[in-house]
Amino acid sequence: MQNSKLPLSVWARNISPSPTLAVDAKAKALKAAGEDVCGFGAGEPDFDTPEFIKEAAIKALQDGKTKYAPAAGIPDLRWALAEKYRNENGITRAEPKNVVVSPGGKFSCYLAIRATCSPGDEVVVPAPYWVSYPEMIKLAGGTPVYVMAGIEQGFKITPEQLREVLTPKTRMVILNSPSNPTGAVYTRKELEALFEVCLSHGVWILADEIYEYLLYDDVTHHSIASFGPDAAESTITVAGFSKTFSMTGWRLGTMVAPDEVAKAVSSLQSQTSSNATTFAQYGALVALQNSDAARTAIQEMLGVFDRRRKMLFQGLTEIPGVECTLAQGAFYLFPKINPDWGLTSTQFAEELLEKEKVAVVSGEGFGADGYLRLSYATSDEVIEKGLQRMKAYCAKL
Ligand SMILES: *Cc1c(COP(=O)(O)O)cnc(C)c1O
Repeated sequence: MQNSKLPLSVWARNISPSPTLAVDAKAKALKAAGEDVCGFGAGEPDFDTPEFIKEAAIKALQDGKTKYAPAAGIPDLRWALAEKYRNENGITRAEPKNVVVSPGGKFSCYLAIRATCSPGDEVVVPAPYWVSYPEMIKLAGGTPVYVMAGIEQGFKITPEQLREVLTPKTRMVILNSPSNPTGAVYTRKELEALFEVCLSHGVWILADEIYEYLLYDDVTHHSIASFGPDAAESTITVAGFSKTFSMTGWRLGTMVAPDEVAKAVSSLQSQTSSNATTFAQYGALVALQNSDAARTAIQEMLGVFDRRRKMLFQGLTEIPGVECTLAQGAFYLFPKINPDWGLTSTQFAEELLEKEKVAVVSGEGFGADGYLRLSYATSDEVIEKGLQRMKAYCAKL
C-alpha cells in the first residue's frame, strides 16, 4: 500500500520504536542470512515456561476458559495475588480489589502513568532507564525529568539528587529495582530514603518490580509499598509473570495499587484492552498456587543465570577499556566503554555487530551514552565466543 497524504497524530509522530527490539531484529536478520551471530540483546529469559504452568493453561483452554473475563482479572487470580503481596511482599493491606491483571507488565506501567498523570505533569525517571518509560510519559502528555546515576554511584540515584529535580509539577517518581538495564538493586535503606523524599513532596511512586525474584548474592527484594500505610497509599507496584516464569509471550502483568488507582486502571483497561487473555490467567494462577513447583523452577533458572553472570562479568573486566560492575539483579550487565575510543555507544554496537557479529544494545536508548547493555539470558557458548570477539574488536580501537 502507499503512504497516505493524511496526517498522523502528534502522539504517533513523536513516538520512537523500542530500540531493544530493533537490535534483536537486526541480529536475527543476520542469523537468518547464515551469519554466526553472538546475541547479547535478549530482553527475556532463554528458558521455556515451566511445564506445570503450561499444562494448567492447556487444561483451561480445554475446559472452555475461552471467553471474556472481568477487566481487572479472574477473581481467583486477583485473590491469589493479593495474598502473595501480603505474605511475600509485606504489603499488608493488599486486597483483591487492589489488584489489576493486565496484558503485560508494560501495559500495567502505561496504565499506572495514565491513571495518575495529566498533560503538563513531570515524571522523574532515574537514568539509565527502561526504554519505555519516557515514551509512556509523553503519551500521557507528561514530561520525563531525568536523574543520572552512572557506574561510579552503582547506577542508583541518591535522595539529594531526587530532591533537586522535584518541582510543584512533579506528579510521579519511577523506581525500578532490580533494574533493567543495569541490574542494580536498591537496599531497603536506600529505598526508604527515596520514599521519604517522595512522601514529603506528595508524589506518586511507580515501583516497577518485574525482576523481584531475579536476585543473586543473597540480596533481598523490598517493596516500597510495604514501608507502612503512607507508602502503601502513594505507591503503585507493578510486576508480572514474564521474567519470573519465562512467560514473556503470555502477556500477563500485575499491579497492586490504592483503591482509586486500581479502580481507574481497571476502567481504563475495560475501555482499551479488556481483560488479559483468560486461559493464560489460569496458567498464572497455578504458578501462585503451586508454590513448591514455582520455587523449584525459579531456583533452577537463578542457578544458571548466576553462573553466566559471573562468567560474563569476569570476561568483560578482562577487556582493557571496559569497566563493569557485578550487578546483583535481573539478567543484564551494563559496562562502560573507554571514552577515549571516541565512539558513541551506538557506533560501537553497530560496528561490533558488523565486524565481529556480536549483538549488544547501545546505552543511548537507556539514556546512558558510553554504556552497553549485555544480557546473559543466552548460552555459555555464546558468552564465551562473544567475549573473545569483543576483546579482539576492542584491542583494535
Ligand atoms: C520486561 C519488563 C517489563 C514488563 O514486561 P512484560 O513482558 O510486559 O510483562 C516491565 N519493566 C521492565 C523494566 C522490564 O524489563
